[in-house]
Amino acid sequence: MDDWDALLDRTARIAREWLASVDERRVFPDSDAEALRAGFPQDLPEEGEDPTKVIEDLARAATPGLVASPGPRYFGFVIGGSVPASVAADWLTSAWDQNAGLYVSSPASSLIEEIAARSVLELSGLPRDAGVGFATGATMANFACLAAARSKVLDAAGWDVEANGLVGAPPVRLIVGEEVHATATYALRLLGFGGKTAVRIPVDANGAMQADALREALADPATRDRPTIVAAQAGNVNTGAFDPLGEIADAVHGLPNAWLHVDGAFGFWAAAAPTLSHLTAGMERADSWTTDAHKWLNVPYDCGIAIVREPTWLARSMALTAAYLLAADRERDPYDWVAEGSRRARGTTVYAAIRSLGRRGLAELIERDCALARRFAASLHGRSGIRILNDVVLNQVLVRFDDPAEPGDVAAGDARTKAVIAAVQRDGTMWAGGTSWHGLAAMRISVSNWRTTEADVDRSVDSILRAATAATKGKLPAV
Ligand SMILES: *Cc1c(COP(=O)(O)O)cnc(C)c1O
Repeated sequence: MDDWDALLDRTARIAREWLASVDERRVFPDSDAEALRAGFPQDLPEEGEDPTKVIEDLARAATPGLVASPGPRYFGFVIGGSVPASVAADWLTSAWDQNAGLYVSSPASSLIEEIAARSVLELSGLPRDAGVGFATGATMANFACLAAARSKVLDAAGWDVEANGLVGAPPVRLIVGEEVHATATYALRLLGFGGKTAVRIPVDANGAMQADALREALADPATRDRPTIVAAQAGNVNTGAFDPLGEIADAVHGLPNAWLHVDGAFGFWAAAAPTLSHLTAGMERADSWTTDAHKWLNVPYDCGIAIVREPTWLARSMALTAAYLLAADRERDPYDWVAEGSRRARGTTVYAAIRSLGRRGLAELIERDCALARRFAASLHGRSGIRILNDVVLNQVLVRFDDPAEPGDVAAGDARTKAVIAAVQRDGTMWAGGTSWHGLAAMRISVSNWRTTEADVDRSVDSILRAATAATKGKLPAV
C-alpha cells in the first residue's frame, strides 16, 4: 500500500539519521524545556493530518530534546544502547502489533518469549525449568519475584495470600542490604509489606552485604521462626559490588521457611561472561532473580525479566483468570508470568539481541565494558585531586574530585565534584550523573553500551580533566 511505503520509508530514514548522529552529536541537549516545548505544535488538531507529516513534525520537534544515550559516550544511570538486531526486532514488534498476553492472541509471540526465556536461563546458568516473565523493567520484575516469594513463604506458613490478602496473615520477616536498590523496597511497598519494614543489613566498603551480619540477623530469636524473604543484589547500582551470594544462600537455606531473591538488574549478566562469572558464584542457588534486558543486554526500552526457580509460585501470584480468557493447555500464556494483561511482545527484542550477539558476543560486550570502566579509573585516578572511590569490580566507576589544595576538606571536594559534573554535562562530549557515596559527592560512570570504545573513554577522560582543571582554577562557580 502506497501510504505505508511513503510513511515507513520516511520513518526509516529519520531513524537512520538519528542513529548515525549519536556518535558525534552533543550527548545531552543544550536546549531548555521552554525552547523544546515551543518546537511542538500545541493545538489539538480538529482534522487529522497526513501521517508522514505528523512523523516529520514529531521528529523535528523531538530531536533537539533527545539524549544520545544509545551512543557510545553516555554513562549516566545504568542505561545500555540497543544492538541493531534488537532495534529492528522492536520495529517489527510494533508492525506486527500482537497482543502477547495469551497464546491464542499470538502464538508466535508466545513461542518467541519461550525461546528468549530459555536462552536467558542458559546464558546465566540458572535452572532450565525456572519460570520466566518479561516485564517492563527490573522494578516490575522485582515486584513479580517478591510476589512469588510472598506466596510461597506464606503458603508454607498455612496462609493463602492470593485468596486472603495480608490482613491477619502471619508476619513475614523481610531482610535487605543497607544498599538495597530503591525499587526492591518499592516492590515490597506495592506488595503490602510497607516500604520501611525490612531489616537492613550493614554493607562493606564497596556496598556488598556483610554475610556475618546477615547470619546474626537471621538468628534473631525474636523473629527466626517467621517466614523470611531475603533480597540480595548482584551489582550495586553505585559501585557494581556483588553481595556474597554463596554465603547468603547457605545462611538463608539453613532456615525452615525462607526465600532468597537476587536483584541482578545489570550484574546478572556477569554470569554470561567467563572472566566475570566468579562474581555471581552462588547466584544460581537463589529462589528468584530479577534482571533487565534494556540495560546490559542492550535492547530498546522496555524490558525487564523475572525468573523464579519453582514456576508455580510465579504463576500463582501473577496469573490472571477469567471465563473469556482462553488459557492454553500446554503452551505459554505470557501474561501468566507478570502483572499484566494485554501486553507488548517484549521477548522479541531479547530473542534478536541474543541471536545476533551469540554467547560469545554477549560475553565480549560485558567484558569489554568492564575493561573500559577500568580504563576510566586508571586514567583518572591520581590526576589533580581525583580519586576513584569504589573497587571497580564491574562496569561502575565513582569519581571524586577533591580540592588539590585541601584534599581533606569534604565541603570543598563536594563543591568541586559537583562543579566538574555540571561542566562535563555542559560540555556535551559525554554525560555522567552524580551520586553520594558514604557521605562524599561523586561522579557516577556506568559503561553499559555495546558501542563504547577505548577512544570514546579517552575523549571522555579528556573532557573530565578539562572540567577538573577549570574547576581547580576557580573558573567555575560551585553548584
Ligand atoms: C536499574 C535497577 C533497577 C530498576 O530497574 P528498572 O529497569 O529501572 O525498572 C532495580 N535494581 C537495580 C540493581 C538496578 O540497577
